[in-house]
Amino acid sequence: MSFETRAMVCAHHHLYSSLARGMPAPDVTPRSFLSILENVWWRLDVALDLDTLYWSAALGAAEALCNGTTAIIDHHESPMAIDGSLDVIADACSMIGVKTNLSYGVTDRWDGATLRSKVSPLSPMTDGAVRGLRENERFLQAGGRGMVGVHASFTCTDETLDRATALAASMNTGVHIHVAEGLDDKEAGARLENRAEDNWLLIHAVHLDRQLSGTIVHNPRSNMNNSVGYANPVRFSNDIAIGTDGIGADMLEEARLAYVRLRESDVTQTPDTVWKWLQTAEKFFPEIVDDTVTWSYDNSDSPWHVAFTPGIRCVEVRVNGQLVVNNGTPTQFDMNEIRSKASEAATKLHKKLALR
Ligand SMILES: [Zn+2]
Repeated sequence: MSFETRAMVCAHHHLYSSLARGMPAPDVTPRSFLSILENVWWRLDVALDLDTLYWSAALGAAEALCNGTTAIIDHHESPMAIDGSLDVIADACSMIGVKTNLSYGVTDRWDGATLRSKVSPLSPMTDGAVRGLRENERFLQAGGRGMVGVHASFTCTDETLDRATALAASMNTGVHIHVAEGLDDKEAGARLENRAEDNWLLIHAVHLDRQLSGTIVHNPRSNMNNSVGYANPVRFSNDIAIGTDGIGADMLEEARLAYVRLRESDVTQTPDTVWKWLQTAEKFFPEIVDDTVTWSYDNSDSPWHVAFTPGIRCVEVRVNGQLVVNNGTPTQFDMNEIRSKASEAATKLHKKLALR
């Protein structure tokens, strides 16, 4: 029995989405996964500039830290502000004191100023994809910790997938890609089968129809929110990790959701299965063994307790021994200032979205 555990890792985040809360509603009610992408996320990412991105990332990282999450694997897209965007996220997270593994999500869905919701594999590679690849390469070559990001197979040409695969191999890292999240991407298994490697991150895998090499990242809240179906990750033999897909970084909360959704599908399952998933992404941040969290509950190290104890709060966080959250309050930055700056940026962003 202990109040203390190792700090958490969020294996799939979108720090660019922290300011989405309260954004103007779309003109039409999205009725499908693709429509949610078109009317919410692709409307938001195209409105981002680097200043807005900085405060979005800072807020997301600060909220992560206050929930005991000291490391984030982020997948970023800002089609109108690609160059240097990974440095902006790295700077914001470094100011907050959260470790990161960053990637830029390459896509061919923007053909000039025209948005294409699905891209033919054989069509020519777009300028946006070239710039996205270049941002990944630039960041990794400068020594940044990260992977090569790809949005998803269904918005990429074969040439883009090939070049992303080759770039990752040449940089000795993997590809971080959404895989078969919705039925619109059900070809992902076939298209990635001969490309995926063990060091890839396969996000969602809800409609994945075959075994692929890589670590599968399960995002239960996001999957339910987008009504894409249940990934049932235990059907694969891959390592499984847990992400939030941009909806905060409260990993105990996400694990509780993952557990009840798993249990709904198989009543013989136990919380131990899911708590193992929480630790999978530690392999991306070996130094996290020196980060600890003290929680408000005295059996925080017991999956059976935590699965049935909603509302456990993070009280203290130590990064490499240093106290960075004390009694729920960050010690290295002013949370009120971060919220205030993020709120200003959100107001600016939401005004821009209202005009679209
Ligand atoms: Zn995602």
